[in-house]
Amino acid sequence: YLLIFSLYFASINLSTIMAQEKSIDQKVDSLIKLMTLEEKVGQMNQYNGFWDVTGPAPHGGNAEVKYQHLKNGLVGSMLNVVGTEEVRKLQQLVVEETRLGIPLIFGYDVIHGYKTLAPIPLAEAASWDMEAIEKSARTAAEEASAVGLNWTFAPMVDISRDARWGRVMEGAGEDTYLGTCIAKARVKGFQGGDLSQPNTIAACAKHFAGYGFAEAGKDYNTVDVGTATLYNSILPPFKAAVDADVKTVMNGFNTLNGIPVTGNSFLQRDVLKEKWGFEGFVISDWASIMEMIPHGFAKDLKHAAELGAKAGSDMDMESYAYVKHLVENVKEGKVDETLVDDAVRRILKVKFELGLFDDPYKYCNEEREKERLHHKDNHASVLDMAMKSIVLLKNEHNLLPLKKDQQKIAVIGELADDKNSPLGSWRLGSDDNSGVSVIEGLKAYTEDFKYAKGPKIFHEGANFLNEVGVNETDRTGIDEAVELAKESDIVLMVLGEHGFQSGEGRSRTKLDLPGVQLELLQAVHEVNQNIVLILMNGRPLTINWEAENVPAILETWQLGSQAGNAIAKVLFGDYNPSGKLPMTFPRSVGQVPIYYNHFSTGRPNPEANVFWSHYSDEKNEPLFPFGYGLSYTTFEYSNFQIDDSDQNSIKVSATITNTGDSDGEEVVQLYIHDKTASIARPVKELKGFQKISIPSGTSHNVEFNLTDKELGFYNHQYQYVVEPGEFSVMVGTNSQEGLTGTFTKD
Ligand code: BGC
Repeated sequence: YLLIFSLYFASINLSTIMAQEKSIDQKVDSLIKLMTLEEKVGQMNQYNGFWDVTGPAPHGGNAEVKYQHLKNGLVGSMLNVVGTEEVRKLQQLVVEETRLGIPLIFGYDVIHGYKTLAPIPLAEAASWDMEAIEKSARTAAEEASAVGLNWTFAPMVDISRDARWGRVMEGAGEDTYLGTCIAKARVKGFQGGDLSQPNTIAACAKHFAGYGFAEAGKDYNTVDVGTATLYNSILPPFKAAVDADVKTVMNGFNTLNGIPVTGNSFLQRDVLKEKWGFEGFVISDWASIMEMIPHGFAKDLKHAAELGAKAGSDMDMESYAYVKHLVENVKEGKVDETLVDDAVRRILKVKFELGLFDDPYKYCNEEREKERLHHKDNHASVLDMAMKSIVLLKNEHNLLPLKKDQQKIAVIGELADDKNSPLGSWRLGSDDNSGVSVIEGLKAYTEDFKYAKGPKIFHEGANFLNEVGVNETDRTGIDEAVELAKESDIVLMVLGEHGFQSGEGRSRTKLDLPGVQLELLQAVHEVNQNIVLILMNGRPLTINWEAENVPAILETWQLGSQAGNAIAKVLFGDYNPSGKLPMTFPRSVGQVPIYYNHFSTGRPNPEANVFWSHYSDEKNEPLFPFGYGLSYTTFEYSNFQIDDSDQNSIKVSATITNTGDSDGEEVVQLYIHDKTASIARPVKELKGFQKISIPSGTSHNVEFNLTDKELGFYNHQYQYVVEPGEFSVMVGTNSQEGLTGTFTKD
């Protein structure tokens, strides 16, 4: 019997499994039975591949090792291998030369596009337009899948309330509700309706969890938050991504309450896989398994491999921990082989779902690669997204939109002529200097403007890896800019951050305009106050003087490939701005973390107590609140009504009238406050929004339904509870202004 049994198994291979009429789960099980422990651990290993595997090893010693490991079936995934030719070469290597021929999955940071770039994710969040955001992720997937990729390390769904943290540019801002909606939209966009199609890619919700709460906004720093914040503010966007069927989740570099998240089995096993039923796999962050050693959690790499595997980190990105030590850990009884099986099952399942077992080269279509890169549809899509991402912060005397002829226009500022900074950070696949600059965008409307660069602010040579050098002293160019401003009717000043001043590892302690830009602005303002400030930045800034003195301000973030065109369209009124801030703009760094949905202190009131909760040198209020943004038209809110007769669905409604001269879009926002609860609730929480288009002179009635889904919260035991009591509710144009009322939940 034994002999027949073993002969039977020896005769089964991948093709026999594929030929069977079985479900993916059954096929995965059959495949796992064929695998040696070494091969299983190989699936859990991911290598970085910035090198030509068929040539010599360019980046130091380990390329050869990686190549041998690939050939021997000890690698399950590659990151940073891109282009159909490169992908095909490696795929062929493993499919043809390894014993079982299990295809690789190819991951890449497609954060806001591959080659054609959409706005940075924070900017997209300012659109509050879920359809557009989903479409943007879809466009990115179309392009990325055409260059051989089948997996993106996006969306980043980390909530953050700290603009010092450079990675806020990669997220959806400070709010959990908005972040949750955006997480879903992005996952749907990347993964499309059917993951087995060659134009869809697996998404990855990251960084699980808490990374955005790095102390003092310093990247990679300690995260120490209580359960109320973890359960109610940090985890929901991840849960939403799981509910939207995200195929992978990435853990992070940070510790959370003393435990590195990579070694955190409560998060990865109990919450993610058990409680939420996540069936995909967890990828570590770059070498985060190894980083458990400097964290003081693992004593060496072998120990790190043990802790990572036990905690449910299924795939090791570049720590070499699993490939070197996991087999040994299993053999010594430190890690149960069933845990390895579970990880491999998850990884193989995603590969099956992507259709890689049916055709490992399905993403390697050279024709499609040529056709999709820079496809005109991509440009149209990112342009649309870019316009929707712009936020009008101020517009006194209706300075905007600009009249098309008539005026003598001056354009000032180095960033106006920059084709690189508008692309923002995290754009590994795109070409440098490939964005449309503001100057180029303006030229599509008029040649009739003059440009003065002003002082050189940013040193040459900054890129993803090199930090940005800033000129703090050289004022050459200010005089020339002032002369130009004197003879002009209107001055467009493009100021802000360099495109690589935000992103990973780019924390700042100051949030003002870098270098001598404010001096330039002030000098110009002395001679001409008709200024439109066009901000280009990757995070909220403390622009107090600017907000006080400059009549018109457009927040344009970093808008990607079509930046200049989008900005010009908004400046000239061909698109009426509709964006709203997804993050609070502080007045000073000292207020940070500052966010609208904070808790009340016991001393919120200056009248009641001399020792009330405040700063002696700064206001409590932000410069611009969450949800804030203007339009070229005006909206009036009226007819506020609450109908709580059906307690399962409380209806809140208001009428919004476009009282201005132009058609426009408004993001109508609904906030609630649970007045008394067993755990204090934030002073306000967004629980609904609708972006509606209202023609000039007309009204639109907007209705929201509040159900248990909106009215409850997680308690310290991580149970979702809905408590009876009084709620206040607001429907408004931002988190500070709106119509309010109350209702009682029985
Ligand atoms: C980042 C991840 C990213 C990974 C791979 C890490 O440094 O934290 O977000 O996906 O690198 O590039």
